[in-house]
Amino acid sequence: MPTSPIAKQLRLKRKLQVRGRIVFETAWRIGTGREGQTSDLGVLLDAAGQPILPGSSIKGKLRNTCEALASALKLRACLLNVEAGGVECASDVRWYSRHRDAYQSALRTGVQQQLDWIEKNTCDVCKLFGSPVQAARLRCSDGTLDNPAAAAVRVRDGVVLDRDSHTAVDGLKYDYETVAAGTAFRVCFDLDNPTPKDEALFGAALFEWEIGSSLGGFTSRGLGRFRLKDIEIRGVNFDNLKEMVQYLTRPKAEEKLNDQGDWQSYFQKKIEEVLNTVPAGGQ
Ligand SMILES: [Zn+2]
Repeated sequence: MPTSPIAKQLRLKRKLQVRGRIVFETAWRIGTGREGQTSDLGVLLDAAGQPILPGSSIKGKLRNTCEALASALKLRACLLNVEAGGVECASDVRWYSRHRDAYQSALRTGVQQQLDWIEKNTCDVCKLFGSPVQAARLRCSDGTLDNPAAAAVRVRDGVVLDRDSHTAVDGLKYDYETVAAGTAFRVCFDLDNPTPKDEALFGAALFEWEIGSSLGGFTSRGLGRFRLKDIEIRGVNFDNLKEMVQYLTRPKAEEKLNDQGDWQSYFQKKIEEVLNTVPAGGQ
């Protein structure tokens, strides 16, 4: 039987949405891997010639940030490599190929057995960002350019460095495109049925991004410094009948989710909750 969009929504218990602005404080680049219109290494541009900040780039960076913060929150991160991370997780292709039979057997036994297997054999970062056995609970929108006038593309010179001596190789020069400092994008993060651990991890990353982080290519040369600003948090709890009815009947998408108040206090509480309940070393 086909599922209606409303029925699909109602399988959700809770939705949380965080909006903000990524503001670049230095020049930055997300490369195309190809020649640009005016240089050897182009930047991603849309049909109108404006820079693009893909949701996949934002999500990749957010995953890095969460991996780096996981141990401070006593949460597990596999780093997509069980040998390097020391944490068993179905996202590691080699680990999963060795345990696929156990998963298939849990899958045949029943839904609860399948969920238990996923819970036990997926790290806390992959529970949020998704794995081959479970959909992501977090989605990142593409950035929406906030100030097109500031987003000028410029060309810089680079030299090819010798891998061993780190000195410039004679005669091997290239140039690359960057987008100007001050470029700002509106971004949106959606979390479906987040657990307290999901929210603690994601919230800790927001605190980090508010202070500043870096995104895109050539960050070792100082490119791509950004801050996340104007953070707002909204949500809906489908267990609450009043909130559910409001969600279904409000005509405008932006009014369906309720303001959750100050984002800092909201996530501080989630982080405290997780640090108070998770035993040392994860579980
Ligand atoms: Zn993992």
